Amino acid sequence: MQDDPLQPVILTFAEARHRVEHEAALLQATELESVDLLSAPGRVIGERVLADRDFPPFPRSTRDGYAVRSADLSSVPAILRVIGEIRAGQQFDSIPANIESGQAVSIMTGAPVPTGTDTVVMVEDTVLRGQQVGIMRQGRTGENIVPRGAEARAGGVLVDQGARLCDSTIALAASTGKSALLVHRRPVVAVLATGDEIVQVDAFPGPTQIRNSNSFSLAAQITSAGGNPLLLPIAPDEPSRLRSLILEGLKADLLILSGGVSMGRYDLVEAVLSDLKAEFFFTGAKIQPGRPIVFGRCAAGDQTLPGRKGHPRRHTYFFGLPGNPVSTMVTFELFVRPMVEALSGESPQELRFVYAPLKAEVRVKPGLTRFLPAILSGEFEDSHVELVPWQGSGDIAATARANCYLVISPDREKICPGEFIPVILR
Ligand code: AMP
Ligand code: MG
Repeated sequence: MQDDPLQPVILTFAEARHRVEHEAALLQATELESVDLLSAPGRVIGERVLADRDFPPFPRSTRDGYAVRSADLSSVPAILRVIGEIRAGQQFDSIPANIESGQAVSIMTGAPVPTGTDTVVMVEDTVLRGQQVGIMRQGRTGENIVPRGAEARAGGVLVDQGARLCDSTIALAASTGKSALLVHRRPVVAVLATGDEIVQVDAFPGPTQIRNSNSFSLAAQITSAGGNPLLLPIAPDEPSRLRSLILEGLKADLLILSGGVSMGRYDLVEAVLSDLKAEFFFTGAKIQPGRPIVFGRCAAGDQTLPGRKGHPRRHTYFFGLPGNPVSTMVTFELFVRPMVEALSGESPQELRFVYAPLKAEVRVKPGLTRFLPAILSGEFEDSHVELVPWQGSGDIAATARANCYLVISPDREKICPGEFIPVILR
């Protein structure tokens, strides 16, 4: 933090990202509420799901076939006598207590493997003649059997707090008999679009006016990060109205502004925030798009606001994102997402890069970390990534055709076709 709040603080991408991660780790997550499993996808769990019994609760056959003693298969084909059948869901004691040498039990996938047997031979490797089964292939001890408790022991942690709930974690909750889960309340994220030229979506724009799209792309990103967007009225480039809308936004769990953070004469966001005694962690990052990004915190406008877990809330974090629509989208992904995730209780997530070979040469001026709209295509070992031709950071249409951002580190000037290059999926 700087002494003079209006002194610019321009960080590298890594420094800025680390600064956000540092602040995100200090956040108190929102309080808990209960939701049923069908409403749980995408929510962040605030309790631990423990195994209520061993998983699996019995040695489980993974195949349809015959449960046998592997010692009986020292030479194949081995002819064994079928003494019964066990289906999934059958009681363990409804089959013979002990299987003797020379005997086999017909068994179905998901059924408990009877005591005395130690391997399941899949039906494809057998020939049945009346009560006799010919086993054509030797079986290893334990083959096609998941031992009791091999996946989890009773009392073990299956899902930890802070996980974002998805298909597998919801399946685990269901397997332990939980039909509802405690999850964090979605944090309210206020969105404040600024700019004299910006009009509402349903307004008919004058020849030089632009419809507000940023509030809606931000709302989509906030929702996907686990937040509840609260769209404020558009703020003009005029300090007193801007100030009152910022104060309104500071009542939320997080405030995101778009526009008004560049060097123009009417870019007033930093000045107004500074007037409100905001602290600025950085006022720019060496990236493209999105260079003028601002991150800081400010005393919450209303000191009577409910704080977290009974503590009064002292300040609200804010971002001032550059108004160019692609800059807004990119800077949300790079910097805002970790804050929304942390507020919604999620454990810290790394920014994930995948690597793909570049299709066509890329040349850039060095000095900035670039996140350029690109298309990752092809399947299996045939995939490659290429830039989408675009008109710069105002080009939403080009970005809509992209499915990833190609990442270029600041020391690169030319990247040749075939080189594996980092990509952030979108
Ligand atoms: P600014 O960051 O305020 O200088 O704005 C940069 C560019 O982004 C200008 O061309 C604006 O018209 C455009 N812009 C700013 N805010 C929005 C918005 N909410 N929706 C769409 N475009 C915007
Ligand atoms: Mg503006």
